[in-house]
Amino acid sequence: MELTNLTIQEASELLKTKKISSVELTQAMLKRAHDVDSKVKSYVTITDDVALEQAKQADERIAKNDNVTPLTGIPFAMKDCISTRGIKTTCSSKILENYVPQYNATVTNKLNEAGAVLVGKTNMDEFGMGSSTENSGFFTTRNPWNLDYVPGGSSGGAAAAMSASLATFSIGEDTGGSVRQPASFCNITGIKPTYGRVSRYGLISLVSSFDGIGPMARDVYDCATVLEHIAGHDENDSTTYQSPVPHYTSTINKPIKKMKLGIPKEYFVAGMEAGVQSALQEAIRTYEKLGMEIHEVSLPHTKYGLPVYYLLLFAEASSNLARFDGTRFGLSVSKNAKDVIDIYLQTRREGFGDEVKRRIMLGAYALSAGYYDAYYLKAQKVRTLLRRDFETALASCDVLLAPISPTTAFKIGEKTNDPLDMYLSDIYTVATNPAGVPALALPAGFSKDMPVGMQLIGKHLDEATLFQVGHAYQQVTDWHKKLPNL
Ligand code: GLN
Repeated sequence: MELTNLTIQEASELLKTKKISSVELTQAMLKRAHDVDSKVKSYVTITDDVALEQAKQADERIAKNDNVTPLTGIPFAMKDCISTRGIKTTCSSKILENYVPQYNATVTNKLNEAGAVLVGKTNMDEFGMGSSTENSGFFTTRNPWNLDYVPGGSSGGAAAAMSASLATFSIGEDTGGSVRQPASFCNITGIKPTYGRVSRYGLISLVSSFDGIGPMARDVYDCATVLEHIAGHDENDSTTYQSPVPHYTSTINKPIKKMKLGIPKEYFVAGMEAGVQSALQEAIRTYEKLGMEIHEVSLPHTKYGLPVYYLLLFAEASSNLARFDGTRFGLSVSKNAKDVIDIYLQTRREGFGDEVKRRIMLGAYALSAGYYDAYYLKAQKVRTLLRRDFETALASCDVLLAPISPTTAFKIGEKTNDPLDMYLSDIYTVATNPAGVPALALPAGFSKDMPVGMQLIGKHLDEATLFQVGHAYQQVTDWHKKLPNL
């Protein structure tokens, strides 16, 4: 038994029956992280001391049988845009390279309360802007399935850490696919919950009206377990839902026979890699065999998904990132500065990478007087149409099944000179975020030796059905159990 490959469910059972201790499990994980991560580069910071201290406390909690949860003693990794008190939180940006938050994100507090053990903070595209981690201000993470390939992004570090067995679960963030696309490229399971299901308090904002924190794990059951612990209303985030968090793992085994699976026809068009297409078709057949009814549905405004997403992203991001000006957080460059404007300019010039600067400029343009109505306001209106598309399709189906990315992972460097080509790779993931609906990513096969993922898209707040349908698939397939040979 390899401790670093265990699921949460397996590890938790071994901890509760005292066959292993959390200190042992954590030490194994830290050792592997130090041995293997020089190749994969998934972590920006490995938190050895914090992890060992939290593991010791978890063991005491288990010994006293004091409020033990399924996450007590379980090592996890967290995307570096989620605030951790006393631990660097960089967003993989030079501008926050040495920034140490004075407070925890709500998600961090909830995981602490559950007794989970933080192994480290993971690499990402700077401020979440990208699909490959190549936009990290520090280094590029590699795909554990082939080190010459990208792990996806922006939560590429969190996905690679899971796939390389350097954490038992990880926490990512998804604004337009950043949990699902890297999960798909690295053969793990992950969910973008309904907008407002998980508190964003302490998440460094990219697009405040799309951002969602979500678990990434070895299987659907583990994702459900983590979401149960991090979701819920938070008085520090007024966009969180008041409604109680369902106990997802207790309904996960409900039968899916006679349930309706919608296949959006706009998502199955020319341009998809042949191996991706055949993996998805095979998955649809599997669901048919499991007794689901398959229906073709239409999401007629799909073609506006990318432009709406990117326009709104540029606009909100340019406004959100205005706070990084050299006078409040992180980096401050003031060489021979004449005045405070000069400090702003020098700091932002040096601190932000090219992609971040590009998006800030495009956003400032879209928001400027004279263009606001033509771009920003128009995009907000089309956003409503995207949302209605999902609501209409989901009125006649329980869940939708769709691809995550038209291709499997691409080679490092392949798309870096063409930002538009990089944006196009997000075509299947971006529409769900402006619409706010939840989407679960899960492994569905391989194409040319690289993992293929698929997503199940659900109704607002209906993560329970996504877990149920996803879990049923993982009971009869074993793609999610395959591990890379590092
Ligand atoms: N690839 C998308 C982008 O570049 C995803 C961002 C995200 O989900 N954080 O915007």
